[in-house]
This record gives sequence, structure tokens and C-alpha cells, in this order.
Amino acid sequence: MKITNTRNELQDLLLEKRVGFVPTMGALHDGHLDLVRASKSRGLFTVVSIFVNPTQFNDPIDFEKYPVNRERDLAMLESVNCDMVLIPSVTEVYAEGLNEDRFKHDFGFIALDYEGAHRPGHFEGVGRIVNILFEFVKPQVAFFGEKDFQQLAVVRKMNDMLALNIEIVGVPTRREQSGLAMSSRNEWLSQKQLKKATKIYESLVWAKENFREKSNAEILASIKARFVEDEEWSLEYFDLINPLSFQSVGLEKPTDVRAVIAAKLGEVRLLDNLKIA
Ligand code: AMP
Repeated sequence: MKITNTRNELQDLLLEKRVGFVPTMGALHDGHLDLVRASKSRGLFTVVSIFVNPTQFNDPIDFEKYPVNRERDLAMLESVNCDMVLIPSVTEVYAEGLNEDRFKHDFGFIALDYEGAHRPGHFEGVGRIVNILFEFVKPQVAFFGEKDFQQLAVVRKMNDMLALNIEIVGVPTRREQSGLAMSSRNEWLSQKQLKKATKIYESLVWAKENFREKSNAEILASIKARFVEDEEWSLEYFDLINPLSFQSVGLEKPTDVRAVIAAKLGEVRLLDNLKIA
């Protein structure tokens, strides 16, 4: 597995290769490795980037605290036969100009609500870094987790808007046995909180099981009630949405529906979603 820190070396090494790209912020877990496995299973020369992107954190404390374990990350990537790891510095990434307008995109209504509303500036930061990293790596295929479902929609939209012609692949969410979606932020949960955190997935599954029998208003009210029972929880949003437009389905029962949820357990913000219909 080759490790590189610079764009020039990277581009020399990638010449003539069919590249599958997996951007990450490190602190890897089995969910990240699923993205690498998906790329490798298609016979692609697989490049993983590890870059904790300062511009996508609306909360500077979240950025400062973001877990870093480089040795462990590299060992995990070796174990799934990753071909190359790009670990650029902030100066390397933003050498082209942090404020350059061509990296600033307006994703319209798909980025406005949910994560867009609760993390101001987040998708602008995501668009900027993914765009820059795509220019570095120039992949034919790029892999993103369905765990960050709105991010996946934003990346697809950017790919269309800029006519990048990259195949964007969404990879299903890897979960713990308890149903909790794997996340680097789970490292901050205590044993007790890890048990409590299953409420998120249980709520999504309950919404799916009751989608045809109950009204959407009843489903939303019931889920909200589960989170007020316990003071350690604070529900940021739960909604039933159209997965393409990222608009709430309101009172309707269309055929393609996704439930999206974000909630804080103590100081840890948890995010999940599930196909409901
Ligand atoms: P991050 O390092 O959190 O920015 O995540 C890097 C990539 O891994 C993103 O495309 C995420 O959506 C994806 N990812 C994170 N958690 C999971 C998971 N539990 N299952 C599948 N993909 C995931």
C-alpha cells in the first residue's frame, strides 16, 4: 500500500489507472472499509484519502476533538488491500485558494433542510473539499456511504452540475449488531450511552413497520415522544422525505420514502436514515 502526501506524486502514480476513490476523515471503522471493499470488488485501483476537513465543521470544538488514529487507520486499510492512501496537509489541499469561487457551489433545495439547516456551512464545506479531492485524484468511480444520505445527494448533484462524469456509488450503512450505525463519533459514547443509542435505529425500524397503518403525523409524534422521555436526548429532526428532492413528504404516502433522523445523546451528535417505502 503506497502512502503519499502530495498531489504531484499522487498524479504520477495514478497515470493510466482506473481509479476508485473513497474520501474519509480517518478514525476508520468497518463501514469505511465496506466502501473500500466495494471499490476493490470492481477491480479498481483504490485510493482512500484521510483528511479532517476544517471547512465542513460548523462547530470548532467538534473539529478539535475529531478522533485521530493514523497507525490504526493504515493497518485497517492494509487489511482490505487498499492500493493507495492520500494524507494531504491543509496547505496542500487549499493551496489552490480556500476562497476560490469555482469551489463554491449552490446545491439548491436538497442542501437546505435537515443537515443543511442544522449545520450551517456544512455542505458548502463538503462540496468544496470533495471537488478539490476529485481534482487531485481524478477518479472514474467514487464511493460514499448511505449513512450520510444527504451528503450523497449533494455529491451526486455536484457531479451533475459540473459534468464531472464520475460514477458515484452509494454504499449501504454498516451497523453494529445492536443496529447502531457505525460512526467515528460512537467512540465518544460511554457503555451506557451505547445501549441507549440504539433508540435511533429502533425508531427508524418502527417508522418503517408502521408506515402503512399509521398517518405520517402519528408517526412523527410517536418518534418525537420517545426522545422527550429521557433528558439526555435532544432530537434535532426526524422526518419522512422524498430521497431525491430531500423535501418532506408531508401527509402523503408516496412509493419512495426515506426516514431521516439526527439527535444528540449528551454531547454526541448521531445521524441515521432508513428506506421506509
Ligand atoms: P467520514 O470519515 O465520516 O467523513 O466518512 C467517510 C465515508 O464513509 C462517507 O462517505 C460516509 O458516508 C461513509 N460512512 C461513514 N459511516 C458509514 C457506515 N456506518 N456505513 C457505510 N458508510 C459509512
